[in-house]
Amino acid sequence: MIKLQEFLEKIKTKVRFSGLIRYDEPMALHTTFQVGGPADVWVQPDAAVFPDYAAALLRAASNEAIPVFILGHGANLVVSDTGLRGIVLDTGGWTGVENVSGTNATSSANPAPNTAPALRIRSGTEVDAAVEVAAQEGDGVLAFLAGMPASIGGAVYMNARCYERSVSDTLFEIEILDETFQQTIVPFRPEDYGYKKSPFQNRAVLILSATFRPEPRPPAEIWTEIEAHRKDRERKGHYRFPSAGSVFKNNRAFGKPSGQIIDELGLRGLSFGGAKVAPWHGNIIINTGNATAADIRALVDELISRVHAALSITLEPELLFVPHTHP
Ligand SMILES: Cc1cc2nc3c(=O)[nH]c(=O)nc-3n(C[C@H](O)[C@H](O)[C@H](O)COP(=O)(O)OP(=O)(O)OC[C@H]3O[C@@H](n4cnc5c(N)ncnc54)[C@H](O)[C@@H]3O)c2cc1C
Repeated sequence: MIKLQEFLEKIKTKVRFSGLIRYDEPMALHTTFQVGGPADVWVQPDAAVFPDYAAALLRAASNEAIPVFILGHGANLVVSDTGLRGIVLDTGGWTGVENVSGTNATSSANPAPNTAPALRIRSGTEVDAAVEVAAQEGDGVLAFLAGMPASIGGAVYMNARCYERSVSDTLFEIEILDETFQQTIVPFRPEDYGYKKSPFQNRAVLILSATFRPEPRPPAEIWTEIEAHRKDRERKGHYRFPSAGSVFKNNRAFGKPSGQIIDELGLRGLSFGGAKVAPWHGNIIINTGNATAADIRALVDELISRVHAALSITLEPELLFVPHTHP
């Protein structure tokens, strides 16, 4: 621990820091599942210092072989009960939305050249906050994401998908700290993305911001869509218990959604310790109060094995187990 303290103090002598640093920080406080043991150190820089500090931290950590985990909203994570070694870099202080003009960004919804200003959104911004800012600007591009717990960076990294749209349907360009710790713009290229796949999943980079293709629409229409999605998620029980949303990816080859497969095998309500398949939805595991990461892992493995035994198909988890331990 001393070593990490010294390490962080040394960085402060090189670049300005303001924000929060906590040692032995329970990751259960930073994940929507509310599970996860302590991170050796959790660092949340303020917006005023974020890109410079993050670059210095990542560079120095790479030189010293100290692992760094980048944390968004923690809405897709099962962090091990033994926690995370090294540094958790929380993007939650890096928030904000700006209007950028001159992108001429077209979109699938608006294929004609679009001169409306586009929104560039910092990666730590909560998706739901960004949805509202966009709506206030008369831009409906993010409305489909209303009610989804996530940061913008996490939504881009995961290529989050709901209501028949993926984040990749809306991107214009992404600003990253690349492998050499330089700020770089990555133009959107459709071929780099797939179902719940983004190119950043194969790169050790930090997403700094994303610029979205504007979709000007009447504000009343945008707000109606936002309210409809929020209500639908509430009705589907998304917020009733701590969870990380869908457990398994859908796979067209299976002929039906993963949740329906689990439902039809009568596996709703199956539990392991404090982790339970939601009694109202086969593809959600909930933390009933005292779940551990090991409980969730065991329940996920049990579902995979029961579905395989019954149907000879293998469900693929969408949840990320960290440190990465799942096949
Ligand atoms: C109630 C509920 C409903 C949900 N509904 C949906 C849904 O409809 N559709 C869907 O797709 N998902 C859904 N999810 C899952 C979750 O919202 C998404 O996976 C989301 O994209 C995760 O974003 P996050 O900021 O929480 O990322 P995290 O969980 O914090 O991190 C996920 C991954 O992204 C990486 N990452 C995060 N930020 C950055 C960054 N700035 N730069 C580089 N890497 C980064 C992390 O290192 C990690 O590998 C739901 C979750 C909940 C709890």
